[in-house]
Formats: sequence, structure tokens, C-alpha cells
Amino acid sequence: MKNIFESTHPLVKHKLTRLRDQRTKPKKFRELVREISALLTYEATADLLTRRVEIETPIAPTIGEDLSEKIGLVPILRAGLGMVEGVWELMPSAEVWHIGLFRDERTLKPVSYYNRLPIAPTVSVCLVLDPMLATGGSAVATVDILKEWGVSKIKFVALIAAPEGLNKFHSVHPDVPVYLAAIDDHLNENGYIIPGLGDAGDRMFGT
Ligand code: URA
Repeated sequence: MKNIFESTHPLVKHKLTRLRDQRTKPKKFRELVREISALLTYEATADLLTRRVEIETPIAPTIGEDLSEKIGLVPILRAGLGMVEGVWELMPSAEVWHIGLFRDERTLKPVSYYNRLPIAPTVSVCLVLDPMLATGGSAVATVDILKEWGVSKIKFVALIAAPEGLNKFHSVHPDVPVYLAAIDDHLNENGYIIPGLGDAGDRMFGT
């Protein structure tokens, strides 16, 4: 599938294995989520635009490059929160906009319960953060919201995806690249990714 990038980096593989392990405690789990998120973001941001700037080193003037795009981080509540710190460390001037969705039991469709986006977009690039791309429902709905907001450069960063969710997301938003640490085997009847890592929010927040 075009626009789907599964990391082959040994550091990502190593940290993901520690993350999946059921013996990994919440403190370590949060640390690993931050680290893997940063490594994936390094790959996801390779095409950000820069502008030339004149600076002076202690020895001589030179020309450097500054990021020229305004970046928004969009964690999907609640597990996406765990990814913010790792990404933010790489780009501390990024804005963070939270999106909360729940699944309507009757229609099975995602419904937004938290969205404080202002009317006009304040950023030109959005990195959507959600550790688990499972059914794809909230991923699709979040990108729908951001496109409607007026942002066209959107990237999705997740730790693990199920093929079912990835296919659904890609069929609706083929223009949005997805950066992943792993694509797993399947979704079970309860919507969990197999083998996955269990409930990312519960493991992160110790609930
Ligand atoms: N959300 C999770 O936290 N884990 C899964 O396996 C699927 C969705």
C-alpha cells in the first residue's frame, strides 16, 4: 500500500518488543511509548519545509535552515496523550490540539466529545497521534475533522496497526501517510489488535 511506512529500524523493533511484553510496568511503558513516538516522528517529518536563515557561529557567519511550517500535534484521547511528550521534545514550538471521540453504541460510529479547534486553522501540518490503529474508526473521523478545519498536510503516527483498520483508513484517506512501528496480524472480535500489546491506555495510565 502506498503511503504506509512500517519502520524497519532495530531500535524501534527492540523498544516495541519491550512495550508488548506483559511484564512491562506503566512507568517503563510510558517511557517506551515516548521513545518510539519520537523515532517514528523522525521518519514522518523528513519532508517538512525549511527556510534559509543567516546566523553567526562563534567563528563565522553562515547560512542555516529553520523549520518554516507551523506544526500541530493532535493526540486522540486518551492513549494518544502518551505520545505527545516524545514528539514535542523534537519540536517544542508545535501546538497541541486534543481530539476526543467515543463510539456510539447504536450507530457504532465515532462521535466527537472533545474538540476545541478554533474556526480557522492555526497550523499548516498536523501529526495525528494514536498508539493503536485498530478498527480505523477514530483515525478516519479525526482526519475528517482536520481536513474540514482546513489542514491539508496531515500525517498519522501510530505504534501498531491492524490490517483491517489500516485498509479502512487508507481507503478513505489515501493521501495521508501512516507511520508505524508494526502492522500486526488481525483484530479480534472485541476490537483488540492481535498480538498487539493489550489496552494501550490502561497500560499507560495503570488502570
Ligand atoms: N486499542 C488498544 O488500546 N488496544 C488494541 O488492541 C486496540 C485498540
